Amino acid sequence: MHHQANKELDKLSWLQWLQWATLFVGLIASVVLHALANDKNNRETQAQFLTNSKNALFHIEQQLLGYTEVLRGIQSHFVSTPDLPPHKFKQVYAALAADERLPAIQAIGFSRRVRLASMPSESTRSHAVRWPANALTHPNGLLPAAADGYQITYAEPLRHNRSGIGFDQYSESARRSAIEQARDTGEIAATGTVVLRAPDSGENGVVLFMPVYAGGIPPGTVERRRTSIIGVVFLAIRIDEAFTRALTEPSFERLGLQLVLTPSQHASSLAEHRPTLLFSNKAADVRNSNKESESLLKAVHTLSFNRGIWQAEFSAPRAAYPPSNRWMPAIATSSALLGTLALFLVVRQFRFISHRSHRQHQSTSMALQLRERAIEASANAIIVCRAQAPDYPVEYVNPAFERMTGYSAHEILGKNLRILHRADRDQKGLEEIRAIVRENREGHAKLRNYRKDGSMFWTDIRIAPVTNISGEVTHFVAAKYDITDTKKYEEELEFQANHDALTGLPNRSLLQDRLKQSIAHAKRINERFWVAFLDLDRFKYVNDTMGHSAGDQLLQQVTSRLRLVLRETDTIARHGGDEFVLLIGAEDTGMPGTAIVQRVMEALAQPIEICNQFFFITSSIGIATYPTDGEDAETLIKNADIAMYRAKELGRNNFQFYSPALNAKALDRLKLEKDLRIAIERNEFELHYQPQQAITDGQITGFEALIRWNHPLHGTIAPERFIALAEETGLIVPIGYWVIRSACLQNREWHNAGLHQARVAVNVSARQFSEKNFVSTIVEILEATNLPPCYLELELTEGMVMENTEHTINVLSQLKEVGVTISIDDFGTGYSSLAYLKRFPLDMLKIDRSFVRDIAIDNDDRSIVNAVISLAHSLHLTVIAEGVEDEAQLQYLRQQHCDFVQGYYISKPMPPSLIDDFVKSRAV
Ligand code: C2E
Ligand code: CA
Ligand code: CA
Repeated sequence: MHHQANKELDKLSWLQWLQWATLFVGLIASVVLHALANDKNNRETQAQFLTNSKNALFHIEQQLLGYTEVLRGIQSHFVSTPDLPPHKFKQVYAALAADERLPAIQAIGFSRRVRLASMPSESTRSHAVRWPANALTHPNGLLPAAADGYQITYAEPLRHNRSGIGFDQYSESARRSAIEQARDTGEIAATGTVVLRAPDSGENGVVLFMPVYAGGIPPGTVERRRTSIIGVVFLAIRIDEAFTRALTEPSFERLGLQLVLTPSQHASSLAEHRPTLLFSNKAADVRNSNKESESLLKAVHTLSFNRGIWQAEFSAPRAAYPPSNRWMPAIATSSALLGTLALFLVVRQFRFISHRSHRQHQSTSMALQLRERAIEASANAIIVCRAQAPDYPVEYVNPAFERMTGYSAHEILGKNLRILHRADRDQKGLEEIRAIVRENREGHAKLRNYRKDGSMFWTDIRIAPVTNISGEVTHFVAAKYDITDTKKYEEELEFQANHDALTGLPNRSLLQDRLKQSIAHAKRINERFWVAFLDLDRFKYVNDTMGHSAGDQLLQQVTSRLRLVLRETDTIARHGGDEFVLLIGAEDTGMPGTAIVQRVMEALAQPIEICNQFFFITSSIGIATYPTDGEDAETLIKNADIAMYRAKELGRNNFQFYSPALNAKALDRLKLEKDLRIAIERNEFELHYQPQQAITDGQITGFEALIRWNHPLHGTIAPERFIALAEETGLIVPIGYWVIRSACLQNREWHNAGLHQARVAVNVSARQFSEKNFVSTIVEILEATNLPPCYLELELTEGMVMENTEHTINVLSQLKEVGVTISIDDFGTGYSSLAYLKRFPLDMLKIDRSFVRDIAIDNDDRSIVNAVISLAHSLHLTVIAEGVEDEAQLQYLRQQHCDFVQGYYISKPMPPSLIDDFVKSRAV
């Protein structure tokens, strides 16, 4: 990997080098290309200029040729006729038509040689005579007088040159040297710039001379030429005009021309050595005066005239000869630059891409490394398997796998993971895994796995398929989590959810499951089983009097006793409160037996010790049989409950089988509840009154009001049948107030009627007692009925007052203040705390009729009655015994100094209409 990275880096630096090299080479190439293109253009410009200047030269030469031809033509006339008369000369001149062809000609003429030293002045004069204006003229100071003179004898056109006739051209140095040159060479020779003689000219000019020798033909030697020369024909040209005309073509417009006369070998001894300027055209002048900065093209050509001593110097601005593709250098350069730039950018981009890909590669490989490490470091087992049925061989496992399973990588690689399941093949999770792999999808399952050492652990395995580019699943990746702890916790939670915290017994919801299982099982093997609903009798009293922790202990002891008695196969569940449900399986007979139920009851009936106190707990059990009493869990439990109620009704501490009749009763309860709700409105309640009398003199001291329900269909219904229902439904509150109001009203009537001055006692239910405005409602009723409070007695039960002692003390105190009488009903059946009895502001204890009933035969009951009476008296309370049915009971109670009695022996409860008679009969 390192090596590869180095290679990558090499490649990158190479690319960087290449990038700059490209730029550098490209720039150089551009410069070279630019130079080449420029050079090419320069050469093209140069070539154009040369061509142009040569053209100009040609034009000039042509022009000069024209002049020299004219001169030769004239010379040939003089050669043949040295004494050409003037009018003839005029004709010759006219025939040449030189005016038109060569308009720059100032003059064409002939200068005759005159020997000034040897010839008499007359002869000179004679010549001069022929020309009206002149004798031989020598301009002043021009030259020292020479031996010869070349006097102008003819000059055409005469009208411009008349003044020149007779002028000795030899007297002027420029002309002399040219004449001499012509004389010596026999050829045409030209002056430099001379001022033309013609008066109206005054221009610069050039004079061409051509010798005329005696005898025509030029002699062979210079000496003889010098002697035999008779004159020269000449041609004066106005320079500016001549050369300007030569370059009138537009193509020469910007061409500068300077004609320079260079010193020749021939003239060297005579003329100036310095070159002299013959002519300079406008373009050249402008250029010279401006000293233009623009780069100039220059060319010097020697004119093939006058022995090459004339030179034409051409000049022109480069701009005048634009190359055929003047933008070529720019185009070439910019193309080259663009190309370079493009190439540079390409390389750069490539470098960047490489760089990026390198970086990506780097980061990818980093990421891969990281992932690899992460997988290696993962606390969870990670496995890669090939997607190759049926074995799905393992290709990779991480160290966590080794730690988790105890198998080292080499022990598992290439093998199937089923090694982890061992014989435990019948797992739900395995089916799921097979499905996941078969369907090539993601998924997970919980499995029991076994380590190499055989120990089991729970694992959650998550599987995901890995696909290649073409989408085929090639591998599966699996992550395994050890969920043994979670599983334990779950099990704990499940246990908690399904079990009762206090007793550890299955709760209602698990009971449902178990019951369903039992049903399924019983159905399969065609067996019967029982659902027994067990309710502890008087558990409430333990709970109320001893507190909840005592109640809890009691339930735990009951549970352990049930566990002892029932078989392993039976189920015990806590249904809530003091209710248990037992599932009792069949015995060998195919039916459960009652023996087991008996054993349960006996076991529970044994005294239970809690906080150093013994309690006698009995139970009421209702039994429903599967399948006769129900085929589903709900029905079975409901019917067992109904049967249990029946057992309670039958005096507790017994068990009852469910029967359809019981069900009808239960249904009645429902109907009853419906009717109960509308009973007050329909005025179906009625109060019966049972007298209470003093045991000593039989005086009527009070009446207990007992409610009756005159049901339109069922006739009179006893309170035993509906009071509990009214309590459960809360209807007891309005019913209770109705009772108090009716009783008070009734008693007020009796008092008003003067029948008696007794109290009326009403039964108060727990629900009523805990009502917030219980006391105020009582006060309201007393005020409304105008009954003095001392004539109202409230019967409360032990459980009621002991339930919330603080509340009880508070309410009882208020009631005491109001002035009502308070008695504890059914005394002896509950668990009153003496300490509280002492603190409660009570008036009377009412011995429960169950004790009174067996006074004659049961010593225990007798002692309870005795104890209650002495307790009451010691607390300064009065005592009343209820349920007195015969004389013996009355006698015993009298012996024991019970204060009051109530019971059938004195009178049954009766409607108010009968009380009148009763009181009156007693008074008799
Ligand atoms: P309790 O308060 O103990 O009422 C006395 C019950 O004993 C009455 O039954 C009465 O008829 C019955 N009794 C009286 N003397 C004798 C006797 O010598 N022998 C026998 N065997 N029974 C006797 P009742 O009227 O059926 O009332 C039953 C229970 O219903 C009452 O028991 C009381 O707890 C409740 N109850 C009745 N009326 C009301 C009421 O208006 N409000 C409330 N909350 N409960 C009431
Ligand atoms: Ca009562
Ligand atoms: Ca009672």
